[in-house]
Order: sequence, then structure tokens, then C-alpha cells
Amino acid sequence: MLENLTDRLSRVVKTMRGQARLTEANTAEMLREIRLALLEADVALPVVKSLLEQIKFKALGEEVIGSLSPGQALVGVVQRELAQVMAGDSNQSGELNLATQPPAVILMAGLQGAGKTTSVGKLAKWLQEKKKKKVLTVSCDVYRPAAIEQLETVTKQVGAEFFSSNVNQKPNDIATAALDWARRHYFDVVIVDTAGRLGIDEALMQEIKTLHANLNPIETLFVVDAMLGQDAVNTAKAFHEALPLTGVILTKLDGDSRGGAALSVRQVTGVPLKFIGVAEKMEGLEAFDAERMANRILGMGDILALVEQAQQHVDVAKAEKLASKISKGGFDLEDFRDQLMQMQKMGGMASLMDKLPSQVAQAASKANLSNADKQTTRMRGIIDSMTPQERRKPELLKASRKRRIAAGSGVEVQEVNRLLAQFEQMQTMMKQFKGGKMARTMATMAA
Ligand code: GDP
Repeated sequence: MLENLTDRLSRVVKTMRGQARLTEANTAEMLREIRLALLEADVALPVVKSLLEQIKFKALGEEVIGSLSPGQALVGVVQRELAQVMAGDSNQSGELNLATQPPAVILMAGLQGAGKTTSVGKLAKWLQEKKKKKVLTVSCDVYRPAAIEQLETVTKQVGAEFFSSNVNQKPNDIATAALDWARRHYFDVVIVDTAGRLGIDEALMQEIKTLHANLNPIETLFVVDAMLGQDAVNTAKAFHEALPLTGVILTKLDGDSRGGAALSVRQVTGVPLKFIGVAEKMEGLEAFDAERMANRILGMGDILALVEQAQQHVDVAKAEKLASKISKGGFDLEDFRDQLMQMQKMGGMASLMDKLPSQVAQAASKANLSNADKQTTRMRGIIDSMTPQERRKPELLKASRKRRIAAGSGVEVQEVNRLLAQFEQMQTMMKQFKGGKMARTMATMAA
């Protein structure tokens, strides 16, 4: 995500960090590099200008000149300014306003293919899990039956409720009926998906305006593809002129987006960024956090997200059980398999690497990572082909059983042997940690 911008800026940051003294010359050089990086990333020109002005003003100010390590202080200035331009004055990024007489209505707007329907599903999941809300979804897209079906699929996938509609109805009637249903069945939130537009289309714009007036939504979210760069910002602007948008969801930041939209949308439209889409799957939505995004852009890595992600999946009871098992020297192949599954649950190696500082991530090539993920799947397959007894006591495995296991999991017998050797090594290592603090730490990582 945002690879080029990150690469360029992190190079500047790295050089600046090493500078003991700030001179006009090296400051000018840095500003030029930042300017190039921002323009290349398709950041809107007024945003580039104001960012540079601010950075220059602060860089030459006391904050930096007077500091003990000016390079470091300068990096701080850049980081804060990037965060500032994405957050705007208010601090409402990343939060939805649901403070209304339920049901709170969220109206979704955007061009076709922006990721609207997918985002409805992700948002329903987020609202249920993070905010403990009862969510109803409904589609007012009466032009494409497939769109209604797609919404039904994603809604069911995340376990929210879907309000049926069909192409013979009028969008306004659908919305009214859904709202009525939500009131009578005590839903907290209704998310209304609307027809996608290929461009700014007058008739469709009128339709969504009418829907807006009828529904009086507390949130009107504009969904836009980050890969469109400046165009994303321009369409957001056009929609905002027609509709009072309350937030933007920037999708597909996991693709080869150049990052310009993330940096420009707030300042150009005045509408806060509320969420970012970082994967196709339903888990791939993050509440937007300007500071974290600035760190990501600067290549400082998103350690916070990584920790959060790890915490989400850590089952404390399981961790403690494993710690106690390790301290008794009872770490077996079942535990080993749990550990492999844990890694896959966290999205595999590539997803973890994406959150690390770019220098680290670069060291591990994508090809290596995807190989590592494939390897993990194969290892799981081998362990799955064993009997529970064998998993507990792999030393019992005879050559004939190893051959069967290899056949059962579609690998060569050497691979089974390699896995057993690796496991043995790990077991020895675990024994060395026996009882110590390290055992608990390792168990937390593995559970
Ligand atoms: P809509 O026409 O606006 O409703 O768009 P869809 O929800 O149908 O999404 C269009 C395509 O973009 C689909 O293939 C989605 O899977 C994909 N998509 C949506 N959001 C994301 C995202 O955050 N990351 C990635 N990689 N793909 C996404």
C-alpha cells in the first residue's frame, strides 16, 4: 500500500535522521524531495503547497532548529503535518455518529465499482462486533438485480439481517419499507446501499438526493476507490456539492494506490475520512486514524495495527494453557498446528509484513512470503493427516505410517521427515525455556 510514496518519503526521513545539523541547504533539499514524492503520489496541488509551507515554517522554526537532534525533530514535523492534513481541524475521523433515536440510518453513495456493497458488508460486521449494534441492510439499486443479490450475500456472510427488495420497486418505497421494518424490529442501524453511477449522472443524483431527504440519514458516506487518485477527490467533491456527505470510505488501499487520495480528500472536500478498505474480505475495513496513516506513509510501519490484530486473535485461556503445557515439556504437534493456524488467521506472512516498516518488509520479497504461506498450508495438511495419538507422540511414527501420511497430504515423505525434525528442534527449544518467563511469552504468541 502506498509503496512509492512510502519509499520516497522514508528515504528522505532516513537521510534527515542522520543529520546532526540542519542547514538551509539540506532543508531545501528535503523539501524538494518531499514535494516530488507528494506530486508523484498524485496528491492534489493545493494540498502539496500547504503541506510544504507548513513543514518549511515549522522546520525553520524553533521547534526544530533548537532541538538536540534536528533531523529527528524534522521527521516529527513531517509526520504531524501529514496527520494534520488528513485529519483536518476536527477529530471526528474514524468515528460514526450514531447518536440519534434508533434506527440510525447510514446512506451509502458512490460510483459503480467503488466498493460500496462490499463496504456495507464490512461496516455491518464492524458495527456488530465493535459497537454491538443490531444491523439491517437494504439495497435501493433497482437497476441491477445482481447488486441486490450481492448485498444479500455479504450481509448473510457477516451475520446481519437483509431486507429484501426487487427491481420492480421504487428506491424510495424500498427505503421507507426498510426503515419501517427496522423500527418495528428494534434495529439499531440501517445501512442503505444505493445504485452505483458510472459518472456524475443527473437523474441518479436526483434519486439519491430524494432518498436522502426521505431517510434523513445521520451518516451519508461516500465510498471511493483510492486507486483513482485525484479523480477520487474530484468525484467526492462533486457528490458533496449535491449531498451533505458526513464521511468518506477510501477503498482498495491494499492495491497499488499511490496514496494521493488519502492525503487530499479531507482538505479538498472538507469531509472527514472515516474508514479505509484494506482487503476484499469482510475483515478488511479499518477505522481511519490520521496519525497511524501518516506513520504508514512515512514507512514507520503500523506496529499498532499489528499489535491490535494479534490481540484480536489471542485467546488468553488458550495462551495460559499452552504456557503451562510448555513448562511441563508437553508441547506437541497439536500445539504446533495451532500455532500455524494462528499465523494464517492473522492473514499470513504478507499481511503481517505489510504492517512492518518498509525497510524490513522489503528485505523479505513477496515471492518468499507467499512461499512461506504455502509451506504453512502444507505443514498443516501433514499434521491433519495424522491421528490424534500420533500428534501427541510423533516419536511413535513408523516409516509405513509416514508414507501413508505423505500420501494423505499429497507431499513427499521427505517433507514429513523435515516437519518432524523441525518440530523436534522446536520442542528442544521450548524445553530450554521451561518454566521461565519466555515460555509464557512464546505461548502468547502461539495461542
Ligand atoms: P460497488 O459497485 O460500489 O458496490 O462495488 P463492489 O462492492 O461491488 O466492489 C467492486 C470490487 O472491488 C469488488 O470486486 C470488491 O471485491 C472490490 N473491493 C471493494 N473494496 C475493496 C478493498 O478495500 N480492497 C480490495 N482489494 N478490493 C476491494
